[in-house]
This record gives sequence, C-alpha cells and structure tokens, in this order.
Amino acid sequence: MQRRKIAAGNWKMHGIGKDLVHIKAISQAARHLTIETIMCVPATLLHRAKEIGVLLGGQTCHAAPYGAHTGDISAPMLRDAGADYVILGHSERRTDHSESDANIAAKTQAGWQAGLTVILCIGETVADHRAGRTQGVLSGQIEGSLPSGATAANTILAYEPIWAIGTGRTPSLDDIQTVHAAVRAQLPDPMIPIIYGGSVTPSNAPDIFALEDVDGGLVGGASLRAQDFIPILQHLEETVL
Ligand code: PEP
Repeated sequence: MQRRKIAAGNWKMHGIGKDLVHIKAISQAARHLTIETIMCVPATLLHRAKEIGVLLGGQTCHAAPYGAHTGDISAPMLRDAGADYVILGHSERRTDHSESDANIAAKTQAGWQAGLTVILCIGETVADHRAGRTQGVLSGQIEGSLPSGATAANTILAYEPIWAIGTGRTPSLDDIQTVHAAVRAQLPDPMIPIIYGGSVTPSNAPDIFALEDVDGGLVGGASLRAQDFIPILQHLEETVL
C-alpha cells in the first residue's frame, strides 16, 4: 500500500484577508488532485479560509484545552475554527518560545485529543549538521516529543533542517533520503507520512518528492503565492502511483 502524499503550506505570521485569493486558487487546484493539501494559515484566517473549502491547519496550540493563558489558542479552539491539523514543534516555536520536547509532547497529546492530526517538526541546527550529529538529534527529538500512540491517522512527521528553512539551502538528496529512512525506522508505524521541509521550490520539488521515503513537503515561503505553490502540488501529484 502506498503511503499518503501530503503538501502542507506554512504561512507563519503572513496573510490577511486580501491574501485569501491565494487560498482560493490553491483550493481550486487541489480539487483536481489526489494528494492531501493542507494550508496552515494564521489562526485569524482559519474561519474565512474554511469557507473556501480547503484542509486547514493551525501553527501551534496550548497543551491545555482552555484556561487562563492570555494570547494562547487551544487545540479544541483550532478544531472549532475549522482546522483538522496542527503544526507542532516547528523550530521557530522551539527557538522563539523556548518550547521543549516535553512541552511539544504535551501539545501533541492535546492535538490528538481534540481530533487534530499533528504535523510534528524535527530538525537539526547547522552546527549539529556539520558535526555529523543529525541522526542523534532527530532521534532525541522523536523520543522526547512524540508520545506513544502515534499512528498514520493522527501524525505526520516533518523533517526540517533548521539551516534549510528560508535560506534557499537544502541538504543533498542522498542526505534527505538517508534521514527519512532512519526516521521511519524509529517510528511506531511505518505508514506514518514523513514530509520534508526547508526551501522547497517548484524547481527542487520534483527531485525531493521522487525520493523513496519522502511523502511530501512542508512549504513556507513558496506556499504564500498560488503561482508558486500550485506547481509544487502538481509535482507531488506526479509521484502518486
Ligand atoms: C518552514 O518554515 O516550515 C519552511 C519549510 O519554510 P521555507 O519553505 O520558507 O524554507
């Protein structure tokens, strides 16, 4: 059985009402494809994007379902606003908000409990990469931030080397395949999709998506404009058997 193919756009802190034209165009294109296309827009856009009819994800959630946490958003709230997915453990959250593996594991449980599929991000720093510590770092992140109970239905793993995010740099194709295969060997269910993130563009997508253990992409910059993201979706669709 072939694993699911997934393309997720991560809009980060980008996008206001006028940018929904891109969601409309992406959603129209996605309708003709069999891959899972997910748009992780800012929480402020979820409700309006839902009306367009595209699969949606949040970009973080609190570990608690509700409470005195000013400015935070819970997993049930994301669900209520129309999200079916949530990105957790993104390196920007780990760095800017000091999120620990334990914290991410608690959020993952909260996401599952609310019925969200968790897109769990792991990735090494450039120093770890240069020192040959990638596998060890990733393995520690999986152990610490992925609670037991992960299945292909509730989890998508995203390998995002930190040094490749928004930099235009990517690991070699061999390195991406080696890392994905090693990550797969550590997961409790071999059918859990593992997607690659870090400077994916329409030009490098075909080679990356052709790799055996790459099941799609988590795309930041190139997901903001429909004219960049749609070709990426089409390249992924070409890998569907
Ligand atoms: C990301 O931040 O999830 C990401 C992959 O960004 P970019 O595609 O811009 O490198």
